[in-house]
Amino acid sequence: MNVLVINAGSSSLKYQLLDTKTREVYAKGNCERIGIDGSFVGHEERGGEKKKLEVALPDHKTAVKYVFQILDEAGFDTAKIEGIGHRVVQGGWYFPESKVVTDETLGWVREVAPLAPLHNYAEADVIQICREMFPSIGNVIVADTSFHYNIPEKAWRYALPRDVVDKLHIRKYGAHGTSHRYIWRTTSQFLNGDVHKLVSCHLGSGASLAAIQDGHDMDTTMGLTPLDGLIMGTRCGTIDPATVCYLVREGGYTIDEVDTMMNKQSGLLALSGVSSDSRDIEAGAEKGDKNCQMALDMFYYRTSQLIAEMAQSMHGFDTMAFSAGIGENSAEMRLGVAKELEWLGVKIDEKANEVRSDEPRVISTPDSKVKVLVVPTNEEYMIALDVEELLSK
Ligand code: AMP
Repeated sequence: MNVLVINAGSSSLKYQLLDTKTREVYAKGNCERIGIDGSFVGHEERGGEKKKLEVALPDHKTAVKYVFQILDEAGFDTAKIEGIGHRVVQGGWYFPESKVVTDETLGWVREVAPLAPLHNYAEADVIQICREMFPSIGNVIVADTSFHYNIPEKAWRYALPRDVVDKLHIRKYGAHGTSHRYIWRTTSQFLNGDVHKLVSCHLGSGASLAAIQDGHDMDTTMGLTPLDGLIMGTRCGTIDPATVCYLVREGGYTIDEVDTMMNKQSGLLALSGVSSDSRDIEAGAEKGDKNCQMALDMFYYRTSQLIAEMAQSMHGFDTMAFSAGIGENSAEMRLGVAKELEWLGVKIDEKANEVRSDEPRVISTPDSKVKVLVVPTNEEYMIALDVEELLSK
């Protein structure tokens, strides 16, 4: 099936057109600075070079129109698009699985939007636009929280007063669910089913872990929002929650300033003082920069600690898989994290760890107690598979 996958943000819109049967990607790109001066589209076609196209994108509707226009100009008959998959950041309590877009399901995306206001409102608007512009194409909502929705209550419940929690729908929702689901699926296929307790490590600029037992998610490191858990590019991850009160009361910061600080000015960026990108930090540490080295040490420490926490929620693990920008590309980060886990019997084959490839691969030694893999993630393909499954019903 030819599926267009859309990932809309408040001022951006990523798209990818792919065929679920062949997994071939016809075209992909990113509309940037929607509604802001200097908008442009980064567009890439199969076998072609990445182009930067400067176009006025005053709103999301213009962006969606432009995506269809650019696909037509690329020689792809957009009448052949059979489904559109929409990545939705927060599915709240309505999306334990992906769902076809109807008035009702679209209403749910808006209803839970206060939990992720920067994303859900824009996503709902784009879904509405697609329905109106292309009424013959089916739309599917794939929420990033779905995979985590059925983790055990002891894992998702917060120890806050019940009336508050119930009224405001506070719980662990997690994120990166589509990626963790893909990582489980691919790991299981690659190992011919010989995987039972997997710690899936999505380590990109946003990072989270999931404990997956026989395909079922048991726990994850992100919480009510994607701020919780691991140290990330610009996010602080888990800190004492009272820090927020202290910053407001004693530091004089407003709640919005604290929000921005914790989401955009913290993490590896704050620790290194250099960059949020692990490549720059590794290069800095190589040159003897102490703050960069501390950023790496803390990343290894926290990531390995939380891997052990995920393993605990399954009472053990037989496999772990590294994925996303850092997990797929940084041999140094993988080795650093794995070394911290040596006491659990994790052993990395340093040569295999250095191999660069777009394919899943094992990087542990044969005598490692836990199989360690690198599994390139593909959220768009997972979304497209959901679209195919739901629309062919
Ligand atoms: P993602 O959010 O999955 O796209 O991951 C982006 C992050 O992955 C970047 O900010 C880098 O920290 C990291 N990354 C990407 N490519 C490399 C690489 N070749 N080596 C080390 N880190 C990388």
